[in-house]
Amino acid sequence: MSDTSGGVASAVHPTPRSWLVRASNPSPMTLDGTNTWVLVEPGERVAVVVDPGPDDAGHRSAVLAAIASARASEVALVLLTHGHPDHADGAPAFADAVAAPVRAAAPSFCSAAAQPLVDGEHLRVGGLRIDVVATPGHTADSVCLVVPADAALLTGDTVLGRGSTVVAYPDGRLGDYLHSLRRLRALTEERRLRVVLPGHGPVVDDPAALLEQYAVHRETRLTQVRAAAVDARTIDDVLHAVYGDVEPSLQFAARWSLLAQLEYLRESGADAPVLGLLGPPAQPLDVPDHDGPRFDA
Ligand SMILES: [Zn+2]
Repeated sequence: MSDTSGGVASAVHPTPRSWLVRASNPSPMTLDGTNTWVLVEPGERVAVVVDPGPDDAGHRSAVLAAIASARASEVALVLLTHGHPDHADGAPAFADAVAAPVRAAAPSFCSAAAQPLVDGEHLRVGGLRIDVVATPGHTADSVCLVVPADAALLTGDTVLGRGSTVVAYPDGRLGDYLHSLRRLRALTEERRLRVVLPGHGPVVDDPAALLEQYAVHRETRLTQVRAAAVDARTIDDVLHAVYGDVEPSLQFAARWSLLAQLEYLRESGADAPVLGLLGPPAQPLDVPDHDGPRFDA
Protein backbone atom coordinates (compact mmCIF):
# COMPACT_ATOMS: atom_id res chain seq x y z
CA MET A 1 0.00 0.00 0.00
CA SER A 2 1.20 3.53 -0.57
CA ASP A 3 1.53 4.63 3.05
CA THR A 4 4.59 2.63 3.88
CA SER A 5 7.74 3.12 5.84
CA GLY A 6 10.49 0.67 5.05
CA GLY A 7 7.90 -1.44 3.25
CA VAL A 8 5.70 -1.95 6.31
CA ALA A 9 2.13 -0.69 6.00
CA SER A 10 1.12 1.68 8.75
CA ALA A 11 -1.24 0.15 11.32
CA VAL A 12 -3.31 3.31 11.49
CA HIS A 13 -3.25 4.26 7.79
CA PRO A 14 -3.00 0.90 6.02
CA THR A 15 -4.29 1.99 2.62
CA PRO A 16 -4.35 5.37 0.85
CA ARG A 17 -8.03 5.82 1.67
CA SER A 18 -8.34 4.29 5.15
CA TRP A 19 -7.48 5.29 8.71
CA LEU A 20 -8.03 2.98 11.68
CA VAL A 21 -9.14 4.17 15.10
CA ARG A 22 -9.41 1.36 17.65
CA ALA A 23 -11.87 1.83 20.49
CA SER A 24 -10.74 1.23 24.06
CA ASN A 25 -13.22 -1.59 24.61
CA PRO A 26 -10.98 -4.65 24.61
CA SER A 27 -12.60 -7.82 25.95
CA PRO A 28 -12.64 -11.53 25.32
CA MET A 29 -15.44 -10.74 22.85
CA THR A 30 -13.97 -7.73 21.00
CA LEU A 31 -10.29 -8.72 20.73
CA ASP A 32 -8.24 -5.51 21.12
CA GLY A 33 -11.36 -3.36 20.70
CA THR A 34 -13.72 -2.31 17.93
CA ASN A 35 -12.10 -0.95 14.76
CA THR A 36 -13.65 2.29 13.53
CA TRP A 37 -12.66 3.10 9.94
CA VAL A 38 -12.32 6.60 8.47
CA LEU A 39 -12.37 6.65 4.66
CA VAL A 40 -11.29 9.66 2.61
CA GLU A 41 -10.48 10.00 -1.07
CA PRO A 42 -6.98 11.50 -1.45
CA GLY A 43 -7.18 15.22 -2.14
CA GLU A 44 -10.81 15.41 -0.99
CA ARG A 45 -12.14 16.92 2.24
CA VAL A 46 -15.08 14.58 2.83
CA ALA A 47 -14.93 11.55 5.14
CA VAL A 48 -17.05 8.43 5.52
CA VAL A 49 -16.95 6.78 8.96
CA VAL A 50 -17.62 3.04 9.22
CA ASP A 51 -18.71 1.63 12.62
CA PRO A 52 -18.40 4.53 15.08
CA GLY A 53 -18.06 1.91 17.82
CA PRO A 54 -19.15 2.20 21.45
CA ASP A 55 -20.86 5.34 22.74
CA ASP A 56 -17.74 6.81 24.31
CA ALA A 57 -16.65 10.46 24.28
CA GLY A 58 -12.95 9.57 24.22
CA HIS A 59 -13.37 7.34 21.18
CA ARG A 60 -15.48 9.98 19.46
CA SER A 61 -12.65 12.51 19.96
CA ALA A 62 -10.09 10.04 18.61
CA VAL A 63 -12.21 9.49 15.47
CA LEU A 64 -12.56 13.25 14.97
CA ALA A 65 -8.78 13.60 15.33
CA ALA A 66 -8.26 10.90 12.69
CA ILE A 67 -10.63 12.72 10.35
CA ALA A 68 -8.57 15.89 10.83
CA SER A 69 -5.31 14.03 10.21
CA ALA A 70 -6.86 12.65 7.01
CA ARG A 71 -7.33 16.34 6.09
CA ALA A 72 -11.09 16.01 5.85
CA SER A 73 -13.27 18.84 7.10
CA GLU A 74 -16.65 17.14 7.03
CA VAL A 75 -18.25 13.73 7.48
CA ALA A 76 -20.82 13.04 4.78
CA LEU A 77 -21.93 9.58 5.84
CA VAL A 78 -21.77 7.10 8.72
CA LEU A 79 -22.05 3.41 7.78
CA LEU A 80 -22.63 0.35 9.95
CA THR A 81 -21.41 -3.12 9.03
CA HIS A 82 -24.11 -4.49 11.39
CA GLY A 83 -26.06 -3.49 14.43
CA HIS A 84 -24.13 -5.13 17.29
CA PRO A 85 -23.66 -2.61 20.11
CA ASP A 86 -19.86 -2.50 20.05
CA HIS A 87 -20.10 -1.22 16.46
CA ALA A 88 -23.32 0.75 16.50
CA ASP A 89 -23.97 2.16 20.00
CA GLY A 90 -21.93 5.29 19.30
CA ALA A 91 -23.49 5.94 15.90
CA PRO A 92 -26.37 8.26 16.90
CA ALA A 93 -24.18 10.56 19.04
CA PHE A 94 -21.36 10.57 16.48
CA ALA A 95 -23.76 11.29 13.61
CA ASP A 96 -25.29 14.13 15.64
CA ALA A 97 -21.86 15.59 16.36
CA VAL A 98 -20.90 15.68 12.67
CA ALA A 99 -24.42 16.22 11.25
CA ALA A 100 -24.23 13.17 8.97
CA PRO A 101 -26.80 10.45 8.27
CA VAL A 102 -26.33 6.85 9.41
CA ARG A 103 -26.95 4.03 6.96
CA ALA A 104 -27.06 0.31 7.75
CA ALA A 105 -28.74 -2.75 6.26
CA ALA A 106 -31.33 -2.82 9.04
CA PRO A 107 -33.79 0.10 8.86
CA SER A 108 -33.84 0.37 12.67
CA PHE A 109 -30.19 1.52 12.68
CA CYS A 110 -30.62 4.14 9.92
CA SER A 111 -31.21 7.84 10.66
CA ALA A 112 -34.71 9.13 10.10
CA ALA A 113 -34.45 10.12 6.43
CA ALA A 114 -31.76 7.60 5.42
CA GLN A 115 -32.38 4.52 3.28
CA PRO A 116 -31.17 1.06 4.35
CA LEU A 117 -28.08 -0.24 2.54
CA VAL A 118 -28.87 -2.55 -0.36
CA ASP A 119 -26.76 -5.41 -1.72
CA GLY A 120 -24.90 -4.32 -4.87
CA GLU A 121 -25.28 -0.62 -4.15
CA HIS A 122 -22.42 1.65 -5.28
CA LEU A 123 -22.00 4.58 -2.92
CA ARG A 124 -20.21 7.67 -4.18
CA VAL A 125 -19.20 10.12 -1.47
CA GLY A 126 -16.69 12.94 -1.91
CA GLY A 127 -14.94 11.24 -4.82
CA LEU A 128 -14.82 7.92 -2.95
CA ARG A 129 -16.57 4.82 -4.25
CA ILE A 130 -17.78 2.18 -1.81
CA ASP A 131 -19.63 -0.98 -2.89
CA VAL A 132 -22.08 -2.72 -0.57
CA VAL A 133 -22.04 -6.52 -0.33
CA ALA A 134 -24.69 -8.25 1.80
CA THR A 135 -22.97 -10.95 3.88
CA PRO A 136 -25.52 -12.33 6.35
CA GLY A 137 -24.41 -15.03 8.76
CA HIS A 138 -22.67 -13.42 11.74
CA THR A 139 -25.94 -11.51 11.95
CA ALA A 140 -28.79 -11.23 9.45
CA ASP A 141 -27.92 -7.57 8.83
CA SER A 142 -24.16 -7.97 8.22
CA VAL A 143 -22.65 -6.24 5.20
CA CYS A 144 -19.12 -5.96 3.87
CA LEU A 145 -17.87 -2.87 2.03
CA VAL A 146 -15.45 -2.78 -0.90
CA VAL A 147 -13.26 0.26 -1.56
CA PRO A 148 -12.26 -0.62 -5.13
CA ALA A 149 -9.57 2.05 -5.48
CA ASP A 150 -7.70 0.51 -2.52
CA ALA A 151 -8.60 -3.10 -3.40
CA ALA A 152 -9.81 -3.17 0.21
CA LEU A 153 -12.56 -5.20 1.86
CA LEU A 154 -14.11 -3.94 5.09
CA THR A 155 -15.55 -7.00 6.77
CA GLY A 156 -17.08 -5.89 10.08
CA ASP A 157 -17.47 -9.08 12.12
CA THR A 158 -18.02 -11.39 9.15
CA VAL A 159 -14.27 -12.00 9.06
CA LEU A 160 -11.96 -10.81 11.86
CA GLY A 161 -8.26 -10.03 11.72
CA ARG A 162 -7.56 -13.13 13.77
CA GLY A 163 -9.42 -16.02 15.38
CA SER A 164 -12.90 -16.93 14.22
CA THR A 165 -16.25 -15.18 14.38
CA VAL A 166 -19.42 -16.35 16.06
CA VAL A 167 -22.60 -17.10 14.15
CA ALA A 168 -24.99 -15.31 16.50
CA TYR A 169 -27.85 -17.80 16.17
CA PRO A 170 -30.75 -17.43 15.64
CA ASP A 171 -30.20 -13.98 14.09
CA GLY A 172 -27.11 -15.36 12.41
CA ARG A 173 -27.47 -18.58 10.36
CA LEU A 174 -24.65 -20.92 9.39
CA GLY A 175 -26.02 -21.63 5.90
CA ASP A 176 -26.05 -17.88 5.22
CA TYR A 177 -22.58 -17.51 6.71
CA LEU A 178 -21.03 -20.25 4.54
CA HIS A 179 -22.69 -18.71 1.49
CA SER A 180 -21.28 -15.30 2.44
CA LEU A 181 -17.77 -16.74 2.84
CA ARG A 182 -18.00 -18.32 -0.63
CA ARG A 183 -19.27 -15.05 -2.05
CA LEU A 184 -16.39 -13.10 -0.49
CA ARG A 185 -13.86 -15.59 -1.86
CA ALA A 186 -15.28 -15.16 -5.37
CA LEU A 187 -15.37 -11.40 -4.96
CA THR A 188 -11.76 -11.33 -3.76
CA GLU A 189 -10.66 -13.09 -6.91
CA GLU A 190 -12.94 -11.16 -9.25
CA ARG A 191 -12.09 -7.74 -7.84
CA ARG A 192 -8.47 -8.60 -7.02
CA LEU A 193 -8.88 -7.49 -3.41
CA ARG A 194 -5.61 -7.19 -1.56
CA VAL A 195 -6.39 -6.19 2.00
CA VAL A 196 -8.97 -6.92 4.70
CA LEU A 197 -9.91 -4.08 7.04
CA PRO A 198 -11.78 -6.01 9.75
CA GLY A 199 -14.12 -4.93 12.56
CA HIS A 200 -11.75 -6.37 15.18
CA GLY A 201 -8.10 -7.39 15.11
CA PRO A 202 -5.29 -6.49 12.72
CA VAL A 203 -5.36 -5.60 9.04
CA VAL A 204 -4.77 -8.71 6.91
CA ASP A 205 -2.84 -8.47 3.64
CA ASP A 206 -4.01 -11.74 2.08
CA PRO A 207 -7.82 -11.83 1.87
CA ALA A 208 -7.92 -15.12 -0.05
CA ALA A 209 -5.80 -16.93 2.54
CA LEU A 210 -7.85 -15.50 5.42
CA LEU A 211 -11.14 -16.53 3.81
CA GLU A 212 -9.77 -20.00 3.11
CA GLN A 213 -8.72 -20.30 6.75
CA TYR A 214 -12.24 -19.30 7.84
CA ALA A 215 -13.86 -21.83 5.51
CA VAL A 216 -11.55 -24.63 6.71
CA HIS A 217 -12.24 -23.74 10.34
CA ARG A 218 -16.00 -23.90 9.79
CA GLU A 219 -15.65 -27.27 8.06
CA THR A 220 -13.51 -28.59 10.94
CA ARG A 221 -16.03 -27.47 13.55
CA LEU A 222 -18.93 -28.96 11.58
CA THR A 223 -17.11 -32.28 11.40
CA GLN A 224 -16.58 -32.19 15.18
CA VAL A 225 -20.22 -31.29 15.85
CA ARG A 226 -21.50 -33.96 13.44
CA ALA A 227 -19.35 -36.61 15.15
CA ALA A 228 -20.32 -35.50 18.67
CA ALA A 229 -24.02 -35.38 17.75
CA VAL A 230 -24.14 -39.09 16.85
CA ASP A 231 -24.05 -40.38 20.43
CA ALA A 232 -25.15 -37.26 22.28
CA ARG A 233 -28.29 -37.41 24.41
CA THR A 234 -28.46 -33.66 25.04
CA ILE A 235 -27.30 -30.47 23.35
CA ASP A 236 -25.04 -29.89 26.37
CA ASP A 237 -23.30 -33.20 25.61
CA VAL A 238 -22.32 -31.79 22.21
CA LEU A 239 -21.37 -28.45 23.74
CA HIS A 240 -19.02 -30.14 26.20
CA ALA A 241 -17.53 -32.39 23.54
CA VAL A 242 -16.78 -29.60 21.07
CA TYR A 243 -16.47 -26.46 23.21
CA GLY A 244 -15.56 -27.97 26.61
CA ASP A 245 -12.37 -25.92 26.81
CA VAL A 246 -14.13 -22.58 26.33
CA GLU A 247 -14.13 -20.51 29.52
CA PRO A 248 -17.48 -20.23 31.37
CA SER A 249 -17.99 -16.53 30.59
CA LEU A 250 -17.94 -17.33 26.85
CA GLN A 251 -20.10 -20.45 26.93
CA PHE A 252 -23.13 -18.41 25.80
CA ALA A 253 -21.33 -17.57 22.54
CA ALA A 254 -20.16 -21.17 22.13
CA ARG A 255 -23.80 -22.20 22.51
CA TRP A 256 -24.85 -19.75 19.75
CA SER A 257 -22.28 -21.24 17.40
CA LEU A 258 -23.27 -24.78 18.36
CA LEU A 259 -26.99 -24.15 17.83
CA ALA A 260 -26.21 -22.56 14.47
CA GLN A 261 -24.31 -25.68 13.47
CA LEU A 262 -26.93 -28.14 14.74
CA GLU A 263 -29.65 -26.17 12.94
CA TYR A 264 -27.56 -26.26 9.77
CA LEU A 265 -27.11 -30.04 10.10
CA ARG A 266 -30.86 -30.47 10.64
CA GLU A 267 -31.63 -28.34 7.56
CA SER A 268 -29.10 -30.38 5.59
CA GLY A 269 -31.02 -33.57 6.41
CA ALA A 270 -28.56 -35.02 8.94
CA ASP A 271 -29.99 -37.69 11.23
CA ALA A 272 -29.08 -37.69 14.93
CA PRO A 273 -31.41 -37.94 17.95
CA VAL A 274 -30.04 -34.73 19.44
CA LEU A 275 -31.26 -32.76 16.42
CA GLY A 276 -34.79 -33.57 17.56
CA LEU A 277 -34.12 -31.56 20.72
CA LEU A 278 -33.63 -28.31 18.82
CA GLY A 279 -36.39 -25.79 19.15
CA PRO A 280 -38.23 -24.44 16.16
CA PRO A 281 -35.93 -22.51 13.80
CA ALA A 282 -35.22 -18.86 14.59
CA GLN A 283 -36.52 -19.05 18.13
CA PRO A 284 -35.21 -15.82 19.69
CA LEU A 285 -32.54 -16.09 22.36
CA ASP A 286 -31.54 -13.47 24.88
CA VAL A 287 -28.61 -11.69 23.32
CA PRO A 288 -26.12 -10.36 25.88
CA ASP A 289 -24.33 -7.10 25.09
CA HIS A 290 -21.33 -8.80 23.62
CA ASP A 291 -19.77 -9.26 20.29
CA GLY A 292 -16.96 -10.73 18.18
CA PRO A 293 -15.65 -13.76 20.02
CA ARG A 294 -12.21 -14.48 21.46
CA PHE A 295 -12.29 -18.24 21.08
CA ASP A 296 -12.54 -20.61 18.18
CA ALA A 297 -16.25 -20.34 17.55
ZN1 LIG B 1 -20.92 -8.42 15.71
